Amino acid sequence: MRDYLKFYIDGKWVDPVEHKTSNVINPATEEVSGHISMASVADVEKAVVAARKAFASWSQTTREQRLEIVLAIQAEYAKRQIEIGEAITEEMGAPNALGCGFHIGLGGGHIAAAIDSLKAFKFEELRGSTMINRVPIGVCALITPWNWPMNQVAVKVLPALATGCTMVLKPPQLAPYSAQIFAEVLHAAGVPAGVFNMLQGSGAVVGAALSAHPEVDLVSITGSEAVGVEIAKAAAPTVKRVCQELGGKSAFIVLDDADLAKNVAGATGGMMINSGQTCSAGSRLLVPKARMAEAIEAAKKAAADVTVGDPKGQFAMGPVVSKNQYNEVQRYIEIGVQEGAELIAGGPGRPEGITKGFYCKPTVFAKVSNKMKIAREEVFGPVLVIIGYDDIDHAIEIANDSDFGLAGYVNGVDKAQCNAVAKRMRTGWVSINGGFDFQAPFGGMKKSGNGREWGELGFHEYVEIQALLGYA
Ligand code: NAD
Repeated sequence: MRDYLKFYIDGKWVDPVEHKTSNVINPATEEVSGHISMASVADVEKAVVAARKAFASWSQTTREQRLEIVLAIQAEYAKRQIEIGEAITEEMGAPNALGCGFHIGLGGGHIAAAIDSLKAFKFEELRGSTMINRVPIGVCALITPWNWPMNQVAVKVLPALATGCTMVLKPPQLAPYSAQIFAEVLHAAGVPAGVFNMLQGSGAVVGAALSAHPEVDLVSITGSEAVGVEIAKAAAPTVKRVCQELGGKSAFIVLDDADLAKNVAGATGGMMINSGQTCSAGSRLLVPKARMAEAIEAAKKAAADVTVGDPKGQFAMGPVVSKNQYNEVQRYIEIGVQEGAELIAGGPGRPEGITKGFYCKPTVFAKVSNKMKIAREEVFGPVLVIIGYDDIDHAIEIANDSDFGLAGYVNGVDKAQCNAVAKRMRTGWVSINGGFDFQAPFGGMKKSGNGREWGELGFHEYVEIQALLGYA
């Protein structure tokens, strides 16, 4: 049982102002795995005051001073990463190999990228006689989701620290453990008091109070579209910057010259990673219409190969995060069936033989129309839809016919053609033949938000531009 009942404020672990706790449920067992304290508005006040006070000195530190701290964070993170991976398995159900693999690898990747970016970042840039000065924006509220918990915490905290900002982190209520250990990492690394503060609790209380707080200069939210909108509204009267990293319904285009079976298998397996709870998941698989039968065969086999079970065991897929999430996934599977899509793998209910835990079946619908709900709305579970296209223009038209614009995938042999297709996609991030880069800015267009995180370009969210005219 994990009991994380204190908050991290002004360099110390402190008791909440009011005593209120919440159970944390292990999605694999449906049992209580621990408790967190739920912060109140009074705790928010304490954390923001601490961050504001620390901003005066942290914002004046040199690049070298901050680099020293970030390097210390990297060393402390390395010591605790397995513990963090295990916490991720317990809090959100990622299989152990994934929690202690890709999940912590993403966190470590963002720390390393922040180190490289901090070494090179142009805080000052002379243009003619004008100095362009990039100064830290101030006190940041960092609000994160549960699906890749360490990825999202690291990708916000590190650039905020590196640019000289101070912050209050609010991790997700459903998955609070990994963030708690991460706060211990920052403490051990010697982050000065007040620079980093962390409160556990609900979005409705803590998130809302941070968003509206006049002493908060920026809110960075990764979460759903609905919450992104709520935060923007709450933040508007204080004219703070709001960086939104929201949902997606990303297209994975397999071009006609690609090895169809191999790519469909890869896309199907990829969709099921993290039980499909990935904002950038290629959840709409676009294949040449004439080869739909071939795609169906490959997807069926790939979905059947995805083993589901106890995340502490050797299974590819664990449960989804919560009962609500399970119900949502089931609702969408029912909708897909009602809409007349061809269910070729998975379907409603838990996988055979599993009677407890929020486990879903790796599910694939084929011959889907892009007008169907299952092609338009984010399911956020292990549900893939396959859509046929006539030619490249049609594929791009389908890919772009979405309210979202987060990610895209293009796989094919003709490199020039892949690149040309990628450029025509209205999304903020496109992976060509599996391309991956911690320095590539990550973020969406349209309803997927307005932010850009990861690497050097991610630093820009946390700086204000100051023009010093007549400087030279
Ligand atoms: P969510 O929107 O329910 O919650 C996200 C965070 O916002 C949580 O910490 C929550 O407590 C907080 N919150 C809730 N209501 C709030 C309010 N009124 N004011 C302030 N904060 C509030 O999202 P979730 O279910 O945790 O995560 C899943 C969503 O996140 C999906 O839509 C997914 O696509 C998206 N996501 C996006 C990215 C990206 O980089 N674009 C990455 C991961 C997840």
